[in-house]
Amino acid sequence: MTIIVTGGAGFIGSNFVYLQLKEHPEDRIICLDKLTYAGNLSTLQEAMEHPNFRFIKADIADRAAVEQLFEQEHPDIVVNFAAESHVDRSIENPGIFLQTNIMGTQVLMDACRKYGIQRYHQVSTDEVYGDLPLDRPDLFFTEDTPIHTSSPYSSSKAGADLLVLAYYRTFGLPVSITRCSNNYGPYHFPEKLIPLMISRALADEALPVYGKGENVRDWLYVEDHCKAIDLVMRKGRAGEVYNVGGHNERTNLEVVKTILKELGKPESLITFVTDRPGHDMRYAIDPTKIHSELGWLPETKFEDGIRQTIQWYLDNKKWWQDIISGEYQNYFDQYYRQK
Ligand code: NAD
Repeated sequence: MTIIVTGGAGFIGSNFVYLQLKEHPEDRIICLDKLTYAGNLSTLQEAMEHPNFRFIKADIADRAAVEQLFEQEHPDIVVNFAAESHVDRSIENPGIFLQTNIMGTQVLMDACRKYGIQRYHQVSTDEVYGDLPLDRPDLFFTEDTPIHTSSPYSSSKAGADLLVLAYYRTFGLPVSITRCSNNYGPYHFPEKLIPLMISRALADEALPVYGKGENVRDWLYVEDHCKAIDLVMRKGRAGEVYNVGGHNERTNLEVVKTILKELGKPESLITFVTDRPGHDMRYAIDPTKIHSELGWLPETKFEDGIRQTIQWYLDNKKWWQDIISGEYQNYFDQYYRQK
C-alpha cells in the first residue's frame, strides 16, 4: 500500500509517520509538506533512512504539484494532517488558514477523485464543536454535537470537514474524519502549551498562563491519537466522523503545575497574562463510537505520558532550542511579553 501523509514534518504527522514505519514497514509512506514555520525536516531525520519513506516539499494547495505526485505514486490512502494549526496565529492572520485548511483540502480531494483512492482521511479537531461550560461536567462532544466554532482556526477546520463530507455525499469519495482533543508528546512545536511550559521552566523563565488558567482541555498522548487514525483510515466506515479523546480533562493551570512539579521548579514561575480573545472554556470528547466500532482505547495515562514527554524534551534539547532561537523569539515576544 502507498500512503501519502501530508503535514508529516509537523507534530502529529511526524509521530504518525514513525508509527506507520514501525507497525506497517511494508507500506510506502510519502510525506508531502510545505515546511512552514511549523514543519521541520530534522524531525524526519530517522525516517529519511527508511527505504519505504520519501519526502516531497510541496503545498497541498498547489494543484499541479499534488497531481504530479498522484501520477507518480498512485496512492491508496491519503491522510491529511497539513494545516495551519495555531489558534493565536489565526486571530492574527486568518487568510492563510482558509487557504491551507480549506482550499488545500479541496485540492487533495480533487486529486483523489481524479486518480482514484481507497480512502481520503481528514485529521480534524474537537474545536469544531466550540466549547462546553465549566459548570456542566456531564456534557461531552459526540459526533452529533452541532458545529459551533469560535476561532478562525476552528472555523477553517470545520469548513474543511463539511467539504469532506460533501465530497462523500456528492461524489462518493471514500472519506473519513477523526476529531481529536488536544495532543501532547514528542516533536510538539514550542509555541503550544505543554512544550512552551517545559522549555521555559527548564530555563527558569516566567510561564505565561492565559487568564486564570481555568480553561479545560482533554489531553491525549500523540501516539494514541496516531493509532486511532491508523484504525479509522484502514477499518473505519467511509463517510463517517469518529471522535478521539481520552477522558483526561485538566485545567491549563493543573497541567502547568504538573510540569513544574516533575521538573522540581517553583510555582512562582507562573505568570497570568491577558486571556486570548474568544478563548474556549472546556473541551471534552465522548469517544464511545470509535471504542465500540473499532475497539480503540487510549493506552497512555496522563501521568506517564507527561513524564515521557518531559524526558523527550530533556533528551532532545537541540531540536527545540534550534526552534526557539531566531524568528520564534519575535513571535513569542509579540504574544506574551507585552501582556
Ligand atoms: P503542526 O502545526 O505541528 O504541523 C503542521 C504541518 O503541516 C507542518 O509540518 C507544516 O509545515 C505543514 N503544512 C502547513 N501548511 C501546509 C501546506 N499548505 N501544504 C503542506 N504542508 C503544510 O500541526 P499538528 O499539531 O501536528 O496538527 C496536525 C493536524 O492535526 C492539523 O490538521 C490539526 O488541525 C489537527 N489536530 C491537532 C491537534 C493538536 O493538539 N495539535 C488536535 C486535534 C487535531
